[in-house]
Amino acid sequence: MPADMPLPSSAAQPLVDPFGRDITYLRVSVTDRCDFRCVYCMSEDMAFLPKRDLLTLEELDRICSVFVDSGVRKLRITGGEPLVRRDIMSLFGSLSRHLESGALDELTLTTNGSQLARYASELAACGVRRVNVSLDTLDADKFRRITRWGDLSKVMAGLDAAQAAGLKVKINAVALKDVNEDEIETLLTWAHGRGMDLTLIEVMPLGEIDGERIDQFLPLSLVRARLSRRFTLDAVEDRTGGPARYVRVAETGGRLGFITPMTHNFCESCNRVRLTCTGQLFMCLGQEDAADLRHPVRASQSDDLLRQTILGAIARKPKGHDFVIDRRHARPALRRHMSTTGG
Ligand code: SAM
Ligand code: SF4
Repeated sequence: MPADMPLPSSAAQPLVDPFGRDITYLRVSVTDRCDFRCVYCMSEDMAFLPKRDLLTLEELDRICSVFVDSGVRKLRITGGEPLVRRDIMSLFGSLSRHLESGALDELTLTTNGSQLARYASELAACGVRRVNVSLDTLDADKFRRITRWGDLSKVMAGLDAAQAAGLKVKINAVALKDVNEDEIETLLTWAHGRGMDLTLIEVMPLGEIDGERIDQFLPLSLVRARLSRRFTLDAVEDRTGGPARYVRVAETGGRLGFITPMTHNFCESCNRVRLTCTGQLFMCLGQEDAADLRHPVRASQSDDLLRQTILGAIARKPKGHDFVIDRRHARPALRRHMSTTGG
């Protein structure tokens, strides 16, 4: 091929990894910053990235759009706290064109809820239908202790606004030993009473925090056994491609999910990859390997180099992860925080 010939276009080549898994779900962390400092997620004096290292909203849109062209059907915007990124609604607004064209099934976000009162109706107008809100307790003092900086009443106002705007809400709660373990039943009946699903998450060993993971870790197998003394938990087959296993709670009629990376390996059906706010593409939440997409997005106006880099990255998606929390592994399995990769 002559040197000045353009590279063959890899447009619309579907993303299939070496284990035959179709990659149809992209999670995008739009910022590493947050207005909370949850004890399991961040240390109190986090050093954040300089703003110049971040992808611009236009670059984020371009990368997401190449993924959508290549068969990604679901985008989740996360962080850090996605709703603290300046002008974030313009990204939702521009990505909504893929919902309108039918190329994308779902545009959604995971948020701590602190800014939802302000943005819920705009999100709904951009075609967002569902939102995951992280909330580990209904006790205002405990909420402040867990989040260090958070105000429960703002999150509650955010939930009201989201539901008023017609958004379907799912609550995510991290199960924390001695912190909210006595409150899980309350959270369950409260969430289901408001028509919201609840998903419980085990603490994952990501990033240096101020405390010890072993002190926070509460196996969900134990939580589930306790809940089943009081509730009838009927297994639900429908797996939404995510890592949660769901049950239907007969007494409330609501769904309860369990995300158990530590006690149950959920990798075999993994359909997702994660983009950080600096353009690193992680093929697995639990591995260090990443592909840099910031260089290809900046190096050329055409998307060909970007497409080829993405295809090359998917070709090295690993089979799975092997997180361990025990006394012999006092250090985190990975140095980066959940807020870097996006939860
Ligand atoms: N700020 C938003 C929020 O809190 O929903 C989005 C980002 S946050 C990193 C996404 C999810 O990751 C939250 O539900 C949070 O509880 C969870 N998370 C953070 N650190 C975690 C850890 N070490 N183990 C398990 N879940 C964690
Ligand atoms: Fe912020 Fe979410 Fe991490 Fe809490 S879990 S510190 S809200 S990014």
